[in-house]
Amino acid sequence: MTLPLDEFDALPDGLAGVDPRSVRSVFPNSALIRLEGRRKAPLALSVLLHGNEPVGLSVLQRLQVWMKTHPLPRSLIVFVGNVHAAEAGVRKLPGRPDYNRIWKGGAEPEHDLAARVLAAFDAAAPFAHIDLHNNTGANPHYSCVHNDREDTRQLASFFSPLAMYTHNPPSMFSNSRADVIPAITAECGQAGEAAGEDAAFEAVMAALHLDHFRGAADRELTVYDVTGRIEVADDASLAFEHGVKADLELPAKLESWNFFDRPEGSTFARRLSGRQVLTVYDDARNDVTDRFFKVEGDRVILTRTATPAMLTVDEAAIRNDCLGYLMERRG
Ligand SMILES: [Zn+2]
Repeated sequence: MTLPLDEFDALPDGLAGVDPRSVRSVFPNSALIRLEGRRKAPLALSVLLHGNEPVGLSVLQRLQVWMKTHPLPRSLIVFVGNVHAAEAGVRKLPGRPDYNRIWKGGAEPEHDLAARVLAAFDAAAPFAHIDLHNNTGANPHYSCVHNDREDTRQLASFFSPLAMYTHNPPSMFSNSRADVIPAITAECGQAGEAAGEDAAFEAVMAALHLDHFRGAADRELTVYDVTGRIEVADDASLAFEHGVKADLELPAKLESWNFFDRPEGSTFARRLSGRQVLTVYDDARNDVTDRFFKVEGDRVILTRTATPAMLTVDEAAIRNDCLGYLMERRG
């Protein structure tokens, strides 16, 4: 089976009225869009790799409006990803690969689609790449970056003063591009938030108008290393309010800690049953809990200053994935 990849040389007329659920009325299949601008090396964008993350579609809609009154300063090449998942209102179709995990090869039809997209992107020799996403839980806007190059940092700074350095997983789109060109994933807050759409559109505008990367960011940028992934034991009961019986009590405002430093010595959680149900793993799946936490009475206390990210109070997300991550400033 070969997955179709449609090609467009303009943004389709009906684009203005669609949302992810109806996106197949204009993009019935995954699509490549090529738009010609004044500078030839295109800015590459990818949208809807995750079907329930509408920010990229919104950016294309805003671009279409803007282009009615402005010549495009730089060419664009856009990959419109998982339109079937978008139609179904889900991140990915059940039993099929995640479209942000298909960019390092594999045997599924989605890997073959990714290889064709990569070949088209390589042939277009893009100037830079921005992959547009929403995320779950309350987080500020932040980029994922994959190297320390000054051009990458400048691109990230167009979007947000916050960035997370990660190579995990290697099969994410921006990671697979980062050796070739400045490439970031822009995490634009929760689906439907206008502020995230504004930030995404502004970053795309800034990159479109940039003549060349100067080799130094003139905007603030703090880059964090992900040093721990916090997991909760499968059979542990959780409480997000005081006075409820559970193995682990976490604050109701947990998500407000994302990207704010939590100081050494501060309480992170309470172990109400005394069981050890909170474990921190590093990238290599080593248990590094002792590096971050100690227990005093029922309190789980940070032994070093750390910056959480992607902490969530969504119990399904905690069970299926993790409670969140701990980061430290990259030197
Ligand atoms: Zn996503």
